[in-house]
Amino acid sequence: MIEIGHICKTFGDRDKFVALDDITLSIPRGEITALLGPSGSGKTTLLRIIAGLETPDSGTIHFFGEDATYKQTKDRKVGFVFQHYALFKHMSVFENVAFGLKIRPKALRPSKEEIRAKVMKLLSMVQLASMANRLPSELSGGQKQRVALARALAVEPRVLLLDEPFGALDAKVRQELRRWLRFLHDKIHITSVFVTHDQEEALEVSDSIVILNKGKIEQVGTPEAVYDNPANPFVYSFLGNVNLFHARLEKGTLRLDTEEPGGKEPVLSDPGKAGVSLFVRPHDVGISLSNQNKLGIQAKIISHRLLGSRVRVELKTVSGEKALEADLDKKQWNDIKQANPEFVYLQFSATKIYSADEVWSDYRI
Ligand code: ADP
Ligand code: MG
Repeated sequence: MIEIGHICKTFGDRDKFVALDDITLSIPRGEITALLGPSGSGKTTLLRIIAGLETPDSGTIHFFGEDATYKQTKDRKVGFVFQHYALFKHMSVFENVAFGLKIRPKALRPSKEEIRAKVMKLLSMVQLASMANRLPSELSGGQKQRVALARALAVEPRVLLLDEPFGALDAKVRQELRRWLRFLHDKIHITSVFVTHDQEEALEVSDSIVILNKGKIEQVGTPEAVYDNPANPFVYSFLGNVNLFHARLEKGTLRLDTEEPGGKEPVLSDPGKAGVSLFVRPHDVGISLSNQNKLGIQAKIISHRLLGSRVRVELKTVSGEKALEADLDKKQWNDIKQANPEFVYLQFSATKIYSADEVWSDYRI
């Protein structure tokens, strides 16, 4: 377990910039924890502080019960993988992975045979044993990152730190490597901190996600917990596509700002709140041809786009002309297209409604 206590970090002398603002966090042993947030939110700074490459202004770091706040990087036993492969260009794959072991002081250095066995074991783990003699320039981007990972693991770190390790690769390779990293981690269970700005990557790879924004933690939880129950509008918006409606509560009745008078009037439990935000994801927006339950919002179809097996439909509400998106399967879209309706009616199967101090979940409209 890594315990981070009240870490603060500012940059600059005159114009102070707060990069980390009182971060307190537990990183569980043996799990992959993702630090997820937009560019500039402080992810790399936090990772560098965990590594000992950056000193915090205040706060503490404990590694597995031991105070590591003033320990140097080399004494923290951390392994790194960065976005830009820092492989030694003139060394073979084998030599790159062996490097950390070969530079150990003689007394701590394994024998040549031991190094050879260990490196080959790591290379077969990252599925590159057949490429041991190649130079980095003879590898693809994905293969280079696998070598970087093998090299980081060779010195048996207690903690593995990955800073956007797949950020420079193309989408397909990135997806493969995510799955592969998860698979590898399930075998070796090394405590890992994985920095990414890609929410899909964080949701797929990690056991828990820490969402950072402007140097503060917005939410910590399992991928399911943060996706299904975002703590606030920032987290909701950051984790996926959204439709946002501004709404008001009038005498316990929720009214979308776009709604025509006399439309549907869903009632919320707390009557006192005005000025709320209603969020619904495109895949929770349903479209029907008739206004069966007299609750649906009337909308016009503007355009559509094929997304593999799904269809992303862009709509505009009739009153208020509020643009929104729905994500339908092809069959449903074909039925609607065939009917060619002038208007359709919307239903929201799962929504979140946030006021300044409260959240309502899964409200159906
Ligand atoms: P992220 O990795 O989430 O994109 P960083 O941790 O790299 O964010 O940076 C957080 C903020 O701190 C950014 O606004 C960045 O410009 C600033 N920052 C980071 N490192 C330095 C530095 N060495 N000097 C000045 N500002 C820095
Ligand atoms: Mg960064």
